[in-house]
Amino acid sequence: MRPFHATRLAAAAALTVAAVAAHAEAPFSFSATPGKLPKDVVPLQYAAHLIPDIAANTFLGAETVEIEVLKATATIMLNVENIDIDAASLSGKAIGELKLAPLIDKEQQTLSFKLGKPLEPGRYQLALKFHGLINREARGMFYMKYKADGADKTMIATTMEPTDARRLLPTWDEPSFRATFKLTVDLPANFKAYSNTPVERQEKLDGGLQRISFGVTPKMPSYLVVLVAGELERLSAKQDGVDIGVVTTAGKLGSAEFPLAATKEILRYYNNYFGVPYPLAKLDQIAIPGGFNGAMENWGGIVYNESTILFDPKKSSESTRQGTFSVNAHEVAHQWFGNLVTMAWWDNLWLNEGFASWMATKATDHFHPEWRPYLDSLAERESVLNLDARKTTHPIQTPILNEAQAAGAFDAITYGKGEAFLRMLEAYLGEDAFRKGIRAYMAKHQYSNTTTADLWAALEKASGKPVEKLASDWTTQPGFPLVKVEQACEGGKRKVTLSQEQFRLDEPPKTKRLWNVPLQVGTVNGKSYYLLLTGEKLSFTQGSCDLGALVVDPWSVGYFRVQYDKASFDALAGQAAKLPDPTRLKLLTDSWGLVAANRQQLDSYLKLVSSYRDEPRVAVWDSILSNLGTLDTLAIGEPERPLIRRYLIDLVSPKFKKLGWDEKPGEPVEDGQLRAMLASALARAGDPAAIAEGRARFARYLADPSSVSPAMIDFVLHVAGRYADPATYDAIASRAMQTQSNEERNRFGRALASALDPQLAARTLQLALSHQLPTQLTTNIVPGVARNEHIDQAWTFAVANRDELMKNQDAIGRSRAFPNIVSSSSNAMHADMMEAYVKQNFGPDALAEAERVGNGIRIRAMQKARLLPQVRAALQ
Ligand SMILES: [Zn+2]
Repeated sequence: MRPFHATRLAAAAALTVAAVAAHAEAPFSFSATPGKLPKDVVPLQYAAHLIPDIAANTFLGAETVEIEVLKATATIMLNVENIDIDAASLSGKAIGELKLAPLIDKEQQTLSFKLGKPLEPGRYQLALKFHGLINREARGMFYMKYKADGADKTMIATTMEPTDARRLLPTWDEPSFRATFKLTVDLPANFKAYSNTPVERQEKLDGGLQRISFGVTPKMPSYLVVLVAGELERLSAKQDGVDIGVVTTAGKLGSAEFPLAATKEILRYYNNYFGVPYPLAKLDQIAIPGGFNGAMENWGGIVYNESTILFDPKKSSESTRQGTFSVNAHEVAHQWFGNLVTMAWWDNLWLNEGFASWMATKATDHFHPEWRPYLDSLAERESVLNLDARKTTHPIQTPILNEAQAAGAFDAITYGKGEAFLRMLEAYLGEDAFRKGIRAYMAKHQYSNTTTADLWAALEKASGKPVEKLASDWTTQPGFPLVKVEQACEGGKRKVTLSQEQFRLDEPPKTKRLWNVPLQVGTVNGKSYYLLLTGEKLSFTQGSCDLGALVVDPWSVGYFRVQYDKASFDALAGQAAKLPDPTRLKLLTDSWGLVAANRQQLDSYLKLVSSYRDEPRVAVWDSILSNLGTLDTLAIGEPERPLIRRYLIDLVSPKFKKLGWDEKPGEPVEDGQLRAMLASALARAGDPAAIAEGRARFARYLADPSSVSPAMIDFVLHVAGRYADPATYDAIASRAMQTQSNEERNRFGRALASALDPQLAARTLQLALSHQLPTQLTTNIVPGVARNEHIDQAWTFAVANRDELMKNQDAIGRSRAFPNIVSSSSNAMHADMMEAYVKQNFGPDALAEAERVGNGIRIRAMQKARLLPQVRAALQ
């Protein structure tokens, strides 16, 4: 799964340090896997027939489950939620056919059958008739309403992960209960339908209906079942014998060409990397016009919000091109990591998500090194380091006790720390040894489940290094180390001392933690080599004292921060502009991290930044502008704000002048991205020339949309929206309602949410209640308005309309909605208010997220008190 802005949507499942098992985990064993369902009865195959009533938003279902009783039992238990059972029976050789009485436990989401006497081991058929709901929110089967050529249309789709398959089919809805699925569905005759496998049979029915039967799936977990149906079109191609398709609503195939070509490349790359070829006959990439914001890796039928996969060559921006490629690479990686080999239980979700994230960056770099995906991934790592440096963080491997906590596991630590840790491990073991281990792991565990211990075993065997010992510190302990670097000249030799302690932003840790830290050490323009820092301290000599400047982690593959002593820092900072990209970016990000943790003064960071004036890389500017943006937000309403804005404008203007307002023929792609990024930063900081230019371009855009290039469209709408008057606002709003492209609608929506005028913000908030807009847009409106300097206004609105707003939220969104509204605040009163509100109005599982966001606000409140005087001292 790829939640939109995964790294910014973090939630920690409830846990305490005491609950963290620091001991080694055991390899996968079905009987020892956590979960609610008894393991003495297992499903082998589900044959299900579904009849959706699209006008009524309900469906009828019938299924026969071939089950195997492994151990004599008088109870059969599986999962259901929001499904009513109309009839149930059990048949088998020894028992004939028994009518069963369903017992549903709503709280536990289970369906049980109590039998008079124990069933002997063997095979039986459980036959069920049932009915359920087609939901508005993306849980189980859901509907989407959209417009095509002015006409109102409805389509249906499903999304199951983690625990919503039970809303469509009574299932053993835990990931270790693998079974095959065979679906049949009755639909309107003008619909096309897609599932995990190709259509096997299609027949006409009376009443304008058709019956479609799909082929049987491989053995898989229930959360990977998919069904999408509507007035759809498909663009297809063959790759390595697999029928690849990109599916869209009618009229959008022009935007399917780029993702189709990308899928061909990605599939070929993974077939080679994993050594086990993609096992299904077809792979559909299904772009739906609503439902959710991310993407879901259903086996053979991946479902995306269309804005995360389609690319319109005439209208889409470069960031859309790169973003869709990387989401595509993430989801297709899951066809192996997650689908072919699945984590045994949700506590090992990182095996799915950390890997898919790591693999996506690797594949993107293989095909598009010019996009610099590894540099981009460092921005994501920064946001994870910031979360992982707080008392509210949790280890990669987290105990997951129930369904509600399973949804909470999809957070930035699972995705981002998982990815960053794998990158560090791959670099240390070597790319070849790492791949050899992954290939062996895939071959050994295909069509089965694993724990982290299975992965360590495979990597250990392939590399000959003690992976388990090295890695478990990183997956079972929360947080990460700060590596301190000191050097001295002794007898003509450079003596280097490295030491580690836990890095924290809020308060010192109560438990002392150490890590086995693989450290690459070298000199600028010289060679680097690995050391393993296993204890608190390590000293070594590096050669003569006049070697080039000392660098630790030159490729920035480590999941830790580095703090140099003053002389070493000055030596590096003095030649910052000439350092390799990753070294240069790491120096900057660690320096900011040290300021945030009160280990370094702000003026030394600002001095360093000033030496990056001519910086060519988007990722580096992104880091600088994001940190200056943080200072700017801390200074809302304070006298320091103009100082920060003046500094930013002085810093950015010379580079922007060089780039100029207009694209130059043959310029690097990165220059085009930088131009838009710097122009937006200038406008945001109130630079009158940038605002005037943005407004003038918006006026031309209204007359002729093609007058603004895809590269600059986000800048133009950003200015128009942020500084909108009522007439401009109306012009954007009417376009938001008209467009049939999700990408465009999101762009217009962001512009409306960014209006600084409180009266216009109030109008945007009302849109969150609209039933005309797709839910994935309406759920972003309130937090979007809040982040644009209207926290109190957005909060008051959300409290007044809570019930209505919650109807649009899915499982993950529900517990995050209210914390999200105040998440950019630096006022501790907001934290108190939000935590009290969540405690009073939501279940205990929502509390962890509330406390995490509250902690972030209190950290920012401390930073505000500390950093604003430092702003005055440095910039006045
Ligand atoms: Zn994923």
